[in-house]
Amino acid sequence: MTISIHPAVNNGVQHIDVDGFAGGKLTCKCASDPVVVNVSAQTAFNHVCGCSKCWKPENALFSQIAVVSKDSVAIEQGADKLHIIDTNAAIQRHACQDCGVHMVGRIEDSNHPFYGLDFVHTELSNEQGWSAPEFAAFVSSIIEAGTPPEQMPAIRDRLKELGLEPYDCLSPALMDIIANHVATQRAGG
Ligand SMILES: [Zn+2]
Ligand SMILES: [Zn+2]
Repeated sequence: MTISIHPAVNNGVQHIDVDGFAGGKLTCKCASDPVVVNVSAQTAFNHVCGCSKCWKPENALFSQIAVVSKDSVAIEQGADKLHIIDTNAAIQRHACQDCGVHMVGRIEDSNHPFYGLDFVHTELSNEQGWSAPEFAAFVSSIIEAGTPPEQMPAIRDRLKELGLEPYDCLSPALMDIIANHVATQRAGG
């Protein structure tokens, strides 16, 4: 069985350190008049995600997604082609209505633990130097998208081989941020 986790990691996770890397442009897949989003900062918490909501390239089991401060994200071109996939979702995914690629996921709820961060797919950029994927999130969710459960052990093994520790939620660091946010709110902070 050939396992396609995601084209950006299938041949090994690339760690390209570029001194002073400060982002680049994300371009959708439209051959003409593409949507262009400028990201003027390095990303963090890059990971592959198995949830059913993130945009995935064809034949990939996972998406690849990272966060960046929303102040560093600007739609440079084609804003009129963007629409929000689900306005009720915590992350409002702005997708190109022509090619379907998600250009930016934004959190509008100021009480959300990740408020202030945008979700972006760095593979949409030609620039080298984006933070490399570090782990795999929502791994079990790929079953919801049709992966037979019996393939899961091989898929988890492949993720481990790639150095992408599989989690069925977010990584411990991110789960701790969420839990701390909940605790702080409960304390009235
Ligand atoms: Zn497009
Ligand atoms: Zn996801």
